[in-house]
Amino acid sequence: MGSRATNDVGSSKEPTAPGASTATAHSAPGPHASASIVEIADWRSFIVAGPSGVRTARHTVPPSTRAVGSPVPRIRGKIVRRRSTGCCSSIRRTVMAPLSVRSFAMSTVYDLSFDQLAERLASWGEPSFRARQVWTQLWKRGATYEEMSDVSPALRERLTGALPIGVELLDERTADRGATRKALLRLGGTHVIEAVLMGYRDRVTVCVSSQAGCAMGCTFCATGQMGLRNNLTVGEIASQVVWGRREAGRLPAATPQRLSNVVFMGMGEPLANERHVFGALAKLTQRDGFGMGARHLTVSTVGIAPGIRRLAYAHPQVGLAVSFHAASDELRDQIVPPNHRYPLAAVEEAIAAWRSATRRRPSIEWALIDHVNDTVEQAELLAPIARRLHAHVNLIPLNPTPGYPVVGSPPARIRTFVTALERAGVNVTVRDTRGRDIDAACGQLALSAVGR
Ligand code: SF4
Repeated sequence: MGSRATNDVGSSKEPTAPGASTATAHSAPGPHASASIVEIADWRSFIVAGPSGVRTARHTVPPSTRAVGSPVPRIRGKIVRRRSTGCCSSIRRTVMAPLSVRSFAMSTVYDLSFDQLAERLASWGEPSFRARQVWTQLWKRGATYEEMSDVSPALRERLTGALPIGVELLDERTADRGATRKALLRLGGTHVIEAVLMGYRDRVTVCVSSQAGCAMGCTFCATGQMGLRNNLTVGEIASQVVWGRREAGRLPAATPQRLSNVVFMGMGEPLANERHVFGALAKLTQRDGFGMGARHLTVSTVGIAPGIRRLAYAHPQVGLAVSFHAASDELRDQIVPPNHRYPLAAVEEAIAAWRSATRRRPSIEWALIDHVNDTVEQAELLAPIARRLHAHVNLIPLNPTPGYPVVGSPPARIRTFVTALERAGVNVTVRDTRGRDIDAACGQLALSAVGR
């Protein structure tokens, strides 16, 4: 109780645990013996100490247990579903489930360091060179145990049982004539997440998830509709990139067929699972491991200001993309709930600090939503922010999600928005929407697989 978790979304100056006057705990039914239901009084309750003193995270509750009577939020007259999972949502009843138990568990062999793997193999009586052999096959080739022909069948069987690879392909969709592959993966035998591989003429990018679900509650996002199920471990995050390296070879010949970039833009808010994301960045850039250049990695955040500052010092070579989606606090409060905690001024300040520490150019991401954030007024508010930050603005028309009643902007509105930015001297690119016909919105495939 009271000790600070590094994967917290709060500022380092803020307390993590609610006082007795702000939270009321009840026994929770169901499988989590140590779980509680807590009436959240403010954002500080986002991570609290559970009954046994372990860190806990908020989970979604069934609709029948949600608070009622809150005003129905609307944008331009359209009803926007409020998420009980939003970190600043006014719906306060949430289920608390132990997070630390899984956070510190090994769910895949990719969670192990080389020394841990070597120690385990030595304890099985294997010669010292075996660890390097298995390590190289796992990280450089992305090989499964069955594919390790230089390892004896008996050891392969033992490895499979004791140190599972823990990446199971449940479903796969392809689009853009095979250049986009979206995989539904079960990681560590438990968590269903998405990873997307995108082949371009000059590069191959894998988009990975950092959490199963997400607690941020952005109104237009399919992952936000799931709520937070759990943080992914270091190995679970890294194993998606290994999957990407394997699959890159199956992309069409018009692409380089070789993984070149990694973006943390899949399910979850990376800086709300900071410790494991930073651990994955370290593993992926480890020279004798996966060996990827840090400049080919980009972390995308909704604007967790303290995490942005820490990223600058922990991984200064890693790129930063910040999802703005709105350039006024009034609108951003509505569609990106974490804005209540980290308003635009705080986010801009953190990005400026990141930029001065890393001397790199940040990106501003903006999902264009028809008649919501694609107005000239929003473009004119965004322009000075982008100019001050020397940021590149990436626009992408919103991929429709079932739970959000609006759609991406049509071409004419996109053109007007782009013109307004360019006239104001902002560097802007309209990104193509990959795989619209394969449930392209982030989390949409996983949402249909696991249900709400
Ligand atoms: S947009 Fe990103 S931060 Fe927002 S709910 Fe979706 S996954 Fe979470």
